[in-house]
Amino acid sequence: MEKAVTSAVKITIIYAVFAGLWIFFSDIAVELLFDTPQLRATAQTYKGLAFVFVTAALLLMLVLKSNQALEKANDIDRLTGLRSISVFIDALNFTIRQLKPNDRLILGYLDIDDFKSINERHGFDRADNFLYELARDISDAVLPGSVVSRLHADQFASFAKLDESVDMEAHVREFQHLFAYRARQHGIDATCSIGVALYPADGTNAKEMMVSATEALNIAKQKKNAIQYHDKTLTDKAMQRRQLVLDLRKAIAEHLLAVVYQPKYNLTTLTPCGVEVLVRWNHPVKGYISPEVFIPIAEENGLTGAISKLVVEKAAQELGNAGLLGTLIQHVSVNVSADEFNNADEMYSLTQFIKNQVCLAPYIRIEITETATLTDMRKSVEIISNLQASGITFSIDDFGTGYTSLAMLKDLTVDEIKIDRSFVSGVEQDERSKTIVNAIIAMAKSFNIHIVAEGVENAAQLKILQDMGCQQAQGYFFSRPLPVNELLQLLASNANDSILNQSSTFT
Ligand code: C2E
Ligand code: CA
Ligand code: CA
Repeated sequence: MEKAVTSAVKITIIYAVFAGLWIFFSDIAVELLFDTPQLRATAQTYKGLAFVFVTAALLLMLVLKSNQALEKANDIDRLTGLRSISVFIDALNFTIRQLKPNDRLILGYLDIDDFKSINERHGFDRADNFLYELARDISDAVLPGSVVSRLHADQFASFAKLDESVDMEAHVREFQHLFAYRARQHGIDATCSIGVALYPADGTNAKEMMVSATEALNIAKQKKNAIQYHDKTLTDKAMQRRQLVLDLRKAIAEHLLAVVYQPKYNLTTLTPCGVEVLVRWNHPVKGYISPEVFIPIAEENGLTGAISKLVVEKAAQELGNAGLLGTLIQHVSVNVSADEFNNADEMYSLTQFIKNQVCLAPYIRIEITETATLTDMRKSVEIISNLQASGITFSIDDFGTGYTSLAMLKDLTVDEIKIDRSFVSGVEQDERSKTIVNAIIAMAKSFNIHIVAEGVENAAQLKILQDMGCQQAQGYFFSRPLPVNELLQLLASNANDSILNQSSTFT
């Protein structure tokens, strides 16, 4: 815009100067060249016409020249001097049209991971300088005949015809090394992601190729510091996953996730003593989606904190309204993901949230898988003691599946251990599982830790666990996870009858 105004002003000035000079000197010339008044009058008429033609030609020349200059300025990226996106697309289109049937072409996108934080940490000037030098590096490293462009702030693109002699993968990796080198030189801690599309496999025109390269780049960016070649099945999957993340965010925001409760039984009295709260997602289109599918997605996208709060809030409302807390239910176990457990801020926020649910707080027990505590044992000890100081008890879930099950108990003061279902399901036939379960029970007892067997599915397993001295159990033999109204009915009937008399309910 600024350039257009400058060039319009320039044209006006040139025109005004020319017109002024013409008026001044043309009259003098007419006076000097023609001596009769008749000739002078005729000359004045033609002089006017000549003025129109000459100024029209002059204006046309000036406008054309200025348009050319403007176009040229738009063809170049001002910061890096690389070609603009429109020129790049035209060139890609043109090159693809010229390709012969056996020709191959590579289109690569390079995007800086977390560029926003580079701007924030190092300031715009340093970031711009880094981009400028990176553009030089890329231009120097591309294949002969390549066209290079900066597509967006921190995204570069280049394409070139590929011949057999090029080791393509090594060539692409070189850009990652170049980037790392340049970032180090600038004292910038950053990585880049690269997406690659190949002609003709990933597209037969510029638009298709660019879509493929973008899809590949999006996958690379999810991994960060990665190179991704376009692959249709991968991008379809990535798109479905992206959609699922959006749907999950919406479900959390609109409180569309539900919870169910699986009761836990005391194996001496065979009476219910607690529940485990399990989250449920009924997707409007896809139907039931298991937490084993969506919890890992929530973990990758930082959504587990919100899920935990939602679960705690629902449990407080539902169990509080049902009047079950402190009577038939002594413990309400809530699952917390590894990423959340290892994030001190998240855990602090969850603890505060639990404390605010006054009716539920005294009964809350947090379940963490064994592997979640292993990232930093010292930190885990601290987090667990903070929880316990707030009156929240603590359970190790899926016990026995990690590699350090026994060693970890040396450092962690846990309230409960849940023996993983895989061992419980083996106690009938598999001597090794039986030995492991026996050892876990004996050890937990000597540490004064409560012990729960998970996934009890039949009376034979129950009998073996009772004989081993296991204190509590949960599993389909007793009850599947239930919505609160069904839980209420079950617990009410359990309270009236001994569980063994109701064996028909459990088979
Ligand atoms: P988990 O914490 O080990 O939960 C026990 C899982 O075993 C539940 O599956 C439960 O329905 C199932 N189960 C219980 N008894 C039996 C049995 O007798 N036989 C068999 N075959 N399965 C049984 P679910 O509800 O699908 O949950 C799967 C996992 O998803 C949970 O494993 C937990 O790791 C995670 N999860 C569930 N709810 C939440 C939640 O609110 N937050 C977080 N972070 N994770 C959750
Ligand atoms: Ca659990
Ligand atoms: Ca478990």
